[in-house]
Amino acid sequence: QADMAMYWAKQNGRDNAKFFEAFMANEVSSRFQYEQQIKQALAQQQFHLLYQPQIDTLSQSVMGFEALIRWQHPDKGMISPVEFIPIAEESNLICHIGDWVLQQSIALLSAWQTAGVAVLPIAVNISGRQFVAEGFIDTIASLLQQHQVDGSLLKIEITEGVFLHDMSQCIDIMAALKGMGVEISVDDFGTGYSSLHYLKELPLDILKIDKSFVSGIGDQAEGDKICEAIIQLAQNLDLKVIAEGVETQEQANVLNVLGCHLHQGYFYDRPLSESAALRLLQQGQRTALGTSVV
Ligand code: C2E
Ligand code: MG
Ligand code: MG
Ligand code: MG
Repeated sequence: QADMAMYWAKQNGRDNAKFFEAFMANEVSSRFQYEQQIKQALAQQQFHLLYQPQIDTLSQSVMGFEALIRWQHPDKGMISPVEFIPIAEESNLICHIGDWVLQQSIALLSAWQTAGVAVLPIAVNISGRQFVAEGFIDTIASLLQQHQVDGSLLKIEITEGVFLHDMSQCIDIMAALKGMGVEISVDDFGTGYSSLHYLKELPLDILKIDKSFVSGIGDQAEGDKICEAIIQLAQNLDLKVIAEGVETQEQANVLNVLGCHLHQGYFYDRPLSESAALRLLQQGQRTALGTSVV
């Protein structure tokens, strides 16, 4: 109960608390319980990562992976990140999850190096709160150092919402990442609320076309237009562009014709287990273009 009261006051402030108490008590207590369960999940290793291949259609090879978190709950079964990440993002919990994802991904890169396979980069999703949190850069630097992994093998995916933070702080963080060779992608590009202004201010590397635009391809006459515009924009700004959620041959063809040759989606691969990803690497999926496709 004491924990609950503190939680309540912290989230809402005293006055708001009074006002909403009766109305929201249920939601808050279940949210509180949910957060407790996420903490427990971290402690009890109920999370794991899957790795979805990213394909370069020009060289017809895998050029990297995106790490995607899964929660195997002992009673509820598999819980989607779409459900628990937004709740974790409301508190510092997301930073603990994010640190765990970074640690796992960098350790896997190191294991691949030890196994002697040609290593491909892993892209990790980082929430805004963690991106601007104190110590974020240090965490990455020390994990890379500890596991003897080069920064060019790690990519960071952030959404446009991050750019609503102080611009100069974002620039500093990105410059530090750049200094380590870590590339930065804008995830779900085109779905956020931020202006396009940041695109020329920030040292970005990659735009990821959101799957809602990719699934619009071939739907109606206008379906391809947004993808076309984003690809043009990326080319004009000297950014790489990758399409997510590619599910059909038609979508792949249209994207290729429009000049977007980096694809990710069920048409190629679902997110894979660690062992399936390793098998892919062992099959020698990599070409000379492997680590960095310009
Ligand atoms: P996202 O980063 O945009 O990831 C892409 C999502 O699209 C993934 O869903 C992936 O499995 C799914 N996807 C890939 N190809 C296809 C396709 O062809 N068709 C369809 N319908 N879906 C496809 P997932 O794994 O459920 O992740 C959902 C979201 O959860 C992610 O969106 C990301 O925002 C968040 N997320 C996942 N893992 C992490 C993580 O480790 N940290 C953080 N902060 N967020 C994460
Ligand atoms: Mg992503
Ligand atoms: Mg995405
Ligand atoms: Mg998305």
